[in-house]
Amino acid sequence: MSPAADPATVLSAAPERSAAAERAETLFTESFGYAPDGVWSAPGRVNIIGEHVDYQDGLCLPMAISHRCFAAAARTPTDRLRVRSAQSEVVLDIDARELAPGAVDGWPSYVAGVLWALRSYISGASTLGMDIMIDGQVPLGAGLSSSAALECATAEAIEALLSLGTGPLDRVRAAITAETEFAGASTGGLDQSASVLSREGHALFLDCRDLSTRPVPWDLAAQGLALLITDTRAEHSHVDGEYTARRADSERAAELLGVPTLRDAGGEDLEAQLARIDDEVVRRRTRHVLTEIRRVEEFDALLGAGTVREHVAGLGALLDASHDSLRDDYEVTVPALDAAVDAARAAGAHGARMTGGGFGGSTIALVEADQAQSVAGAIAQEFSARGFGAPEFFLALPSEGAGQDR
Ligand code: ADP
Ligand code: MG
Repeated sequence: MSPAADPATVLSAAPERSAAAERAETLFTESFGYAPDGVWSAPGRVNIIGEHVDYQDGLCLPMAISHRCFAAAARTPTDRLRVRSAQSEVVLDIDARELAPGAVDGWPSYVAGVLWALRSYISGASTLGMDIMIDGQVPLGAGLSSSAALECATAEAIEALLSLGTGPLDRVRAAITAETEFAGASTGGLDQSASVLSREGHALFLDCRDLSTRPVPWDLAAQGLALLITDTRAEHSHVDGEYTARRADSERAAELLGVPTLRDAGGEDLEAQLARIDDEVVRRRTRHVLTEIRRVEEFDALLGAGTVREHVAGLGALLDASHDSLRDDYEVTVPALDAAVDAARAAGAHGARMTGGGFGGSTIALVEADQAQSVAGAIAQEFSARGFGAPEFFLALPSEGAGQDR
């Protein structure tokens, strides 16, 4: 069977943005019985390079994807916060003045958490009541950050409804606070920065030390290239424990090197620094973080020196090196991630790597646009041959961050 005929290799494109916003508006009207004041949205993201360095004040290079979360919303003359989603049966109806960490269960905590996180911008006199209908396209739990898309779309809606006067970075911080302090999940801030601050046709250079960012030209479509995302659908297992262990290893490394974070260890010769760490495992973890930060700098330098097309071989090699480091030194890959990457490379990708936290989730491959289908077919065949469940494929184009749709 040709890969194109295999249903497993269908590339799911995101629904067109204006049609999706209209759908969210209709869902709101059907659900609440009146028309919303507006529709706002925010995208999911992939990290192109710079993995497992955010918590060591490192550098990363995410981009927003075409899949977005939409929030149709209206202000009401009450203090009730009512929240619904087209993707869940669970609804929320709560006094907005009683929001506190622990007060909301399940997915609505990501939405309520944003209102709570923005409380210092809210004047005492006004009512806080609002109705919010969520309609998301970002696949949930695939490592493409549906949670940040949900929070950031909500933050845009709340800003507009309550005229709070927040700037984009305030909303990034509110979304992070919502996820960490209110929903009780851990996040480093990469997802929310990418979801709010990304520009169409660009990647986002992000310095995790101070969350400062700048757009970097990354116009794949104009150059006949594409980023193929493979959601391996491999079960995430032991993620929390392993994540905590990696963080602890990297903190131990910084301590051994006598620096506040591994970002500060950049200056000296790499081998000389690694030689100062006796523990073999901690040494390998350190090598990943230090070399990964350098890879982001090199990737950024290549993009600054010419087009993606001109440097496609060098950029691909950096993606490959990032994956190999995450597999061998940081040990956060699983067989399905390695298989997707190996198959993509063998099928002609310029470079491929896991993206996100690892232990499951997604991979990316930088491919010729007209080869995306055949690379996806090769990955699907490899998964089938190895007895893995069918993966899901997406084509990612660097998209615009959060904003108003209607
Ligand atoms: P990821 O951000 O990689 O998709 P997370 O576990 O961080 O994975 O976030 C997924 C969670 O976010 C879901 O389990 C759900 O609670 C919430 N979520 C995201 N999008 C939606 C949506 N459209 N409707 C309801 N809940 C959502
Ligand atoms: Mg998330």
